[in-house]
Amino acid sequence: MTNKEAFKEAKSYIPGGVNSPVRAFGSVGGEPFMVSYGKGAYLVDVEGNRYLDFIQSWGPLIFGHCDKDIENAVIETAKRGLSFGAPCELETKLAKLICDEFENVEKIRFVSSGTEATMSAIRVARGYSKKDGLIKFEGCYHGHSDALLVKAGSGATTYGNASSSGVPEDVVKNTYLAKYNDLASVEAIFKSGAQIGAVIIEPIAGNMGLVPACNEFLKGLRRLCDEYKAVLIFDEVMSGFRASKKGSFEFNHILADMVTFGKVIGGGMSAAAFGGKAKIMDCLSPDGSVYQAGTLSGNPVAMAAGIASVSKIYNNFTMYEKLENLANMLMTGFKKAADDNGFKMQICVRGSMFGFFFNSSEVKNYDDALKSDTALYAKFHKKMLKKGVYLAPSQFETGFICSVMSEEDIKFAVKAAEESLREIKNNG
Ligand code: PLP
Repeated sequence: MTNKEAFKEAKSYIPGGVNSPVRAFGSVGGEPFMVSYGKGAYLVDVEGNRYLDFIQSWGPLIFGHCDKDIENAVIETAKRGLSFGAPCELETKLAKLICDEFENVEKIRFVSSGTEATMSAIRVARGYSKKDGLIKFEGCYHGHSDALLVKAGSGATTYGNASSSGVPEDVVKNTYLAKYNDLASVEAIFKSGAQIGAVIIEPIAGNMGLVPACNEFLKGLRRLCDEYKAVLIFDEVMSGFRASKKGSFEFNHILADMVTFGKVIGGGMSAAAFGGKAKIMDCLSPDGSVYQAGTLSGNPVAMAAGIASVSKIYNNFTMYEKLENLANMLMTGFKKAADDNGFKMQICVRGSMFGFFFNSSEVKNYDDALKSDTALYAKFHKKMLKKGVYLAPSQFETGFICSVMSEEDIKFAVKAAEESLREIKNNG
């Protein structure tokens, strides 16, 4: 089957042909290719076309596709049973690996997706603080649980509006929206008397494009949460083990009360987690009164993949430096290509994460991000894909470097960017 035929068939059975909307290329037009397999830094589609993959499954594959250590861990563990529904030592091993590295994570619980991790973290935070109000930031994505699907763009201090039909207004009435990198918008909510029990933020936002929070802003958040006795949750589902082996901490040196993880800690399998101070985590059932559970939580095969992935990171001290160098090389190459052809571009790198906006001003929040030229991004994306470079099919996503990418790969992508932008300049 061709890509077109295979996608057409998928659409007859699966809404939009995809199991997660961004995969459908809605923001950039055209149709997605159908993956046959992945190997190292590359994906190959059902027609045999090869793409340099800067998505890496949206973050998890920091060692690229089919890493031998992770693959072997999965195969060997699978032979001993796919799921137990009973405690096993692999769970403790991965828990220890993470708790030993993150000093604010004294206890941790595993779940199967980032969505579950943030949803559960908020429940515990509310149970602990005994206050229902939740502050989230415009442009931050924390998965698709009801209370977090709140439209960006409403003013701070107003109640959130659900951004998906099917989410009752009642469910989001305790979700307050604040502006990223704008402490005054947070302070106003606290001062309004809203009973805020938790504040959740991506300390390095990756879901409006890549937009890191300023340190002063995060420091202020920490202070406000202490003052008003709210639980500060850093959602590091994306930035955890991606920005650095300590997630955002190496950039901001701020300790949240709770942290959520996903993506890299599952090495490509379904594992995510939420953790934090013991006094908060001990509110969880069976020790405490906050209920949370999962048939496949702490699944042994996913734990084994996670252990292989995280251990490999710990054993490779220079890894992030190399990843960051490649990301910088890619972004400075893209920026030069944009400058040379008269296009305005903003670039950003945090460890193995990179982002660029077709935008004439620095992007510090969601409103800034929305001013980017999405039509230009769509053209660029299409041309890059034709040249064998797979970038996120939306301006508002983050890109990922994996450890098996080489300087040659980056040069190949930069050359493709130069050609693409020149073609756009000359022919529209
Ligand atoms: N939190 C952040 C910061 C994310 O980037 C994502 C997904 O991209 C999620 C939560 C949700 O994770 P999942 O897609 O595994 O449910």
